[in-house]
This record gives sequence, C-alpha cells and structure tokens, in this order.
Amino acid sequence: MSGAAAIDGASPLVLVAPHGGCRDPSTRPPATGRLRVNDLHTASLTEELARRLDASALVNRDADRNVVDLNRIGEAHERAPSFLEALARLVRTTIARHGRATVLVVHGWNVVEPAIDVGLGCASGAVVPADGSAAVSPAFAAGGVRALVDACAARGIAATLGARYPARHRENLLQLFTTRHRDDPRPLVRALASLAPSVDAVQLELGIPLRWPGPWRTRLLDACVAAAPALAAAPVAVAAAARGIVDGFGPAAPMRVQFTSPTLCGLFPAQWDPKLGIHVT
Ligand SMILES: [Zn+2]
Repeated sequence: MSGAAAIDGASPLVLVAPHGGCRDPSTRPPATGRLRVNDLHTASLTEELARRLDASALVNRDADRNVVDLNRIGEAHERAPSFLEALARLVRTTIARHGRATVLVVHGWNVVEPAIDVGLGCASGAVVPADGSAAVSPAFAAGGVRALVDACAARGIAATLGARYPARHRENLLQLFTTRHRDDPRPLVRALASLAPSVDAVQLELGIPLRWPGPWRTRLLDACVAAAPALAAAPVAVAAAARGIVDGFGPAAPMRVQFTSPTLCGLFPAQWDPKLGIHVT
C-alpha cells in the first residue's frame, strides 16, 4: 500500500490519520453502496501537529477510504498490512523509549461548528472501566483527556466525550488498544493488541472549522500543545480516577443536537433546564 507516511518523533505521542486520503475523481471506487467522505485536511493537520508536539505519526495522505478503509482492523490487515506494521513499529519504539505511549487517532466530523468529539472506545457518558475494555485507563481519562477537553473549552471549542463517535465498534482501529483483540488469531493484530497495557488511545473527531486552515485550526493546535504535557505523562492513579472523566460532564455541560436527512444535516447548541428539559438555544 502506498501513501502512508511514518514520522519518527521523540515524545510519547503517536498520531494516526487513517482517513487523510482523497478520491480519484476520474474513477469510481470499487466499494458498493454509499460512498464515504474522506476526512479532508486531516493529513496536513496531523503532520503539523506532529511537528509542534515532536510526536511520531502515521499519516495516510493518499488512499481513498472507499478503496481501503485503514480505520477498520480487518480491512487494513487484509489489504494494507504495511499500515498496521508501521503502526506497531511506531508504538513499540515509543514504548521502548518512554515505557508507554499515547495514541491520538485523528478523524473528520462533518459539522460546521468548532466541535470535537473525543472517543475513548467505551460507552459515552459511562464511567471509564478499569478492566482494559476501554482504550484509556480511568487515570488517563481523568488526566490527559480532561486536560485536552479543558484546553479546548478555554479556546471556545466544544468538546464532547464519545457523544457521536465513541469508537466502540470492534473493527475500529482504537479497539486494538483494548483487551478485545488480545487473543486474535492474526499475529499482526495480536502483536498490536499485546501493546495495549502500555497504551492510552483516543479518537479525535474534528469538526470542519478545526481542520480547514484558519483561526479555529490554530486554536485546536494550540489546545493540543497546551494539553501535551498531560497527554504525554504517565497517568497518575488518583482516588477519584475510577469515577473518571464523566465528572463535570453532566447535564449542565454544553450540548449539541444533531439532525440528518438525505438533503440536510446540522448541529444546534442546546441547554439543559430542570423545568424545560433539553431545549435548543
Ligand atoms: Zn474518519
């Protein structure tokens, strides 16, 4: 498979952009059914972020997700094993240097608000389980994830935790860093899954303004840089960690109402009111 560029960085952070490719407008992809939109601008964004964070990165610059979807474990294993091999090498090297790794998988969310949905590989709104079934530990959720959410909020970026994209599907790349695939019969998948105890991995779904070049993209990059020390640090187990990241994300937190139809989709800010319930603002 061509087009996936590996970047070696010195920090404990490993960035991945599996949907950074684009369609060849002159041909119809072999995929049947509805064509999927590639995550535009995530390749250049991830490369820029890698430079600012001194992070390693694996960036798909070319491959159309309708030809090969690199965010799906089985499809990548079958049709682009070099992508998984490169990911394993970067994560293994990072763990050898630092004793652990933080993996950030960068995606695009096609909403027009400056919003980010942070998937943790477990159910949204639930306490992050401590049994390895999420892609992060409770301590990392309370540390690195919390720092990222706060850094985004401080810059006017609305952050939610897996509200739209929890990254729970067993084929989602993030699930490599849970216990789900540790006994997988495929050696390459099993090798990656064996690294999970030393990895905290999150999925970042970025709204359109956060990806296109402009002031919101700059704010997102600044938020990631501000949160980088907490994202890179070994998470410290604290007494409250078991309660996890859900603290402070109750009904009073900013919410979004999303609607979709064949011709129109959008996102509204909403608020919780004890008397009115959820209402669009
Ligand atoms: Zn994507």
